[in-house]
Amino acid sequence: MPDFSSYNFSGRKALIRVDFNVPLNDKFEITDDTRMRAAVSTIQKILKDGGSVILMSHLGRPKDGPTNKYSLKHLVAHLSKLLNGTKVEFADDCIGQEAVDKAKSLKPGDVLLLENLRFYKEEEKGDKEFAKKLAALGDVYVNDAFGTAHRAHASTAVIADYFPADKKLFGLLMENEVKSAEKVLKSAEKPFTAIMGGAKVSDKILLIENLLEKADNIIIGGGMSYTFFKAQGGEVGNSLVEEDRLNTAKEILEKAKAKNVRILLPVDSIIADKFDANANTKEAENKSIPSGWMGLDIGKKAREEFRKVILESKTILWNGPMGVFEMDKFQGGTKAVAEAIAEATQKGAFSLIGGGDSVSAINQFGFADKVSYVSTGGGAMLEFFEGKELPGIAAINK
Ligand code: AMP
Repeated sequence: MPDFSSYNFSGRKALIRVDFNVPLNDKFEITDDTRMRAAVSTIQKILKDGGSVILMSHLGRPKDGPTNKYSLKHLVAHLSKLLNGTKVEFADDCIGQEAVDKAKSLKPGDVLLLENLRFYKEEEKGDKEFAKKLAALGDVYVNDAFGTAHRAHASTAVIADYFPADKKLFGLLMENEVKSAEKVLKSAEKPFTAIMGGAKVSDKILLIENLLEKADNIIIGGGMSYTFFKAQGGEVGNSLVEEDRLNTAKEILEKAKAKNVRILLPVDSIIADKFDANANTKEAENKSIPSGWMGLDIGKKAREEFRKVILESKTILWNGPMGVFEMDKFQGGTKAVAEAIAEATQKGAFSLIGGGDSVSAINQFGFADKVSYVSTGGGAMLEFFEGKELPGIAAINK
């Protein structure tokens, strides 16, 4: 695969799969442009080289073809602004005559944005004919959509078959995501600590199993920790428990022991008398939470213990909050972990934050620039760390 930074795009039409799946409010204003900003460096490099750019993306989950609500035309003005005023052409359909004509007439420095790919069912089905039509619009294919790299869709994977090996490559964002993830998964400096949190064990089983092969320490906090306590005979009151995963939790603990991986569960919790921002709260040991009460954040002793382990680590992966961080009363544990990761990073550790809610948390607490890497791809990063081969990556490497 050619290296993006040393590739010369001069005179070429680069067809870039970006992830512009941004949230819009009911006035079609973009409420968070992180994903658009993440693609700017890739676009600018191609334009600076003297190439032109054709951007394709999905937006939302349109069910029945074109709808104004999911039109990418709402992004044109803001994209132009992000590109320092460069005019952005728009094609009302991602394939067909208009797209072909507009792509053909692009000159060096020009930018064309295509309408939502998911207005065609063929996109998610990975239809070959549809992919071929998209491929015909450009002469180099750049995949910069890490957020959809775990999908074998027409524009993320199938399309790569229509470009020769020297004309398909990752964009800068994708390159960074893959490099950072590989650094953790394939060449982690030890001790390697993985921090898992969030609501459910069932969502994270494959992730934990794969990390049992790699990590020295696995910290388990958040709602999922109560299933582990219950599995060991603890009283967890009304805390979140997945009854059908008690055996899984036991098996994970046994495997960890056999593999000499240290699993750290929170010794205490901030407990509440209801799932509510204004609930009454107190502290409790996790093996004996009174009935009628539920653990909604890790406690002070747990924070201190986790902090020590984090500070001794050279590689840190974090996925999932330690508590219901959306409510002020229960965000202390997640904040303490974010702080410890920032401190460890300052001391030279490599830290990667992956997964939707830990990314929101790190942004909310203002630590995003104090960690090594914050991933843009929740689901894709999760699958990468589960050890799966992502179709979007495989298609280019092939
Ligand atoms: P996930 O999407 O699995 O990473 O889960 C994130 C969600 O887990 C967040 O919305 C948190 O509010 C929630 N969560 C974290 N800790 C707890 C807990 N102790 N009880 C209930 N929900 C929790």
